[in-house]
Amino acid sequence: MSEITNLIAEGRAKRLYATENEDEAVVYYRDETVAFHGLKRGRIIGKGEINNLICEYMFTLLTEKGVPNHFIRRVDNRCSLVKRVEIIPFTVTVRNIAAGSLARRIGLPDGTRLRNPVIEFNLKNEELEDSLLNVTHITALNLATTAEVRQIEMMSRRVNEILSECMSGIGIELIDFKVEFGRYKGEILLADEVSPDTCRFWDANTHEPLDLDRFRHDLGDVEEAYREVLHRLTGNVLRSNEEEA
Ligand code: UDP
Repeated sequence: MSEITNLIAEGRAKRLYATENEDEAVVYYRDETVAFHGLKRGRIIGKGEINNLICEYMFTLLTEKGVPNHFIRRVDNRCSLVKRVEIIPFTVTVRNIAAGSLARRIGLPDGTRLRNPVIEFNLKNEELEDSLLNVTHITALNLATTAEVRQIEMMSRRVNEILSECMSGIGIELIDFKVEFGRYKGEILLADEVSPDTCRFWDANTHEPLDLDRFRHDLGDVEEAYREVLHRLTGNVLRSNEEEA
């Protein structure tokens, strides 16, 4: 791998570094976490390592299933090498079961199964609480073309099918998840991360959350839940508990 040169971006959950190869970047996964559009902040010890391993597993699976994504390979405990994409400035949320903001917005109890997956787009802007967008907003604001949105939606649906099947095989229900996409050499790639920070995972038997909702709602055993997801996915029992640098 070519050497890291400088910090490109620092978010709460990740840092992104440039490398000598301008087509690649290094993601460093942090223990820091935020919820409710940045209003609640905290730290989940060891989360960076766990999410790095979970993302390696998820992106490798998605590559095998033909979903083009930014992941190249894991570099060490907390870092992975990725393609340096130009992030498209809206997020995509796919929902199978109503929870969180959707449950509040449309007045359905948490846990209500939806008759079909719901796809939502949100502006990447924390100050505006990540405003909900539809396709006409996206094209009017020149965030992406109609053809790009169509492709992004198709890829998001495919990710939902692949992840739902994978999680169901390890006794976990995929409630919803948020993904981001980027442009790279004329192609659209799935980017960002797929982890308990960005997905709602419920144990299929107990319906207990195994994700960031444990932090959002002070449910306790946050680290244990993240470890449980990694363990069920990969068999990896991570014990290092190393704090981030
Ligand atoms: N999500 C995320 N980042 C955000 C907001 C939401 O990764 O800034 C994920 C969240 O973990 C869940 C899905 O997107 O899996 C849908 O979240 P929702 O819109 O219900 O918002 P929240 O309840 O997190 O405010």
